[in-house]
Amino acid sequence: MRAVRHKLVVGNWKMHGSRASNADLLSALLAAQPPVTDDADVAVCVPAVYLQDVSARLRGSAIAWGAQDVSAHDQGAYTGEISAAMLAEFGCRYTIVGHSERRTQHRESDELVAQKAQAALAQGITPIVCVGESLAEREAGQTEVVVKRQLSAVIHRLAHCAAEMVVAYEPVWAIGTGRNATSEQAQGVHAVLRAQLHAATGHGATLKILYGGSVKGSNAAALFAQPDIDGGLIGGASLNAADFVAICRAAG
Ligand code: PEP
Repeated sequence: MRAVRHKLVVGNWKMHGSRASNADLLSALLAAQPPVTDDADVAVCVPAVYLQDVSARLRGSAIAWGAQDVSAHDQGAYTGEISAAMLAEFGCRYTIVGHSERRTQHRESDELVAQKAQAALAQGITPIVCVGESLAEREAGQTEVVVKRQLSAVIHRLAHCAAEMVVAYEPVWAIGTGRNATSEQAQGVHAVLRAQLHAATGHGATLKILYGGSVKGSNAAALFAQPDIDGGLIGGASLNAADFVAICRAAG
């Protein structure tokens, strides 16, 4: 199931930044020209309040931008939520859905994550669907069961559109902990996810599966060299231009 898939590196700024620090970070990224090439695309997913600023700063550049979440609803009495149509108005290219911080802190279910992915795709926004097991689940030998269950909900809801999503495997125990999955551990889970995607959609060879969880300049190349790892979703290291550029270069 080997196919040429462009690598994709996405920064997840989480709830970090200010107008001033964002401007500095983006200027440094643009000046460094991360390898947005035939082999690797780069994007940053930023706090919603900065979407307009960031879209203006990145306009005309090869760095795409996206959101960190989206509402499952089109419009209505959903205080605090932001619809996919609103994101699309600003030219949003991606949105993360189902990040483990939202699954745990906001009790987002597999079904809600699937609805969010569907809402994004309906507006032409590519959902980056996060799946991943907790440490307790890994230690109980449940990794495959958990990630397959999470992905299955999305595949089922998106049906033939499932081929349009990006999947991010993010083991919860590796996020923000400095403890990344080894290349072999990550590759093992990615291969399982790709086989599942292939069986369900027939597009396993072209769908991108990113790895996320304590990716750094020092471990990115080994992770990205794995046959089923198509790039990364980068948290902490995406806040530092030099670190993020090093990771982008490892993908290019
Ligand atoms: C993330 O938040 O998606 C993430 C992978 O974080 P970190 O790179 O900091 O582990």
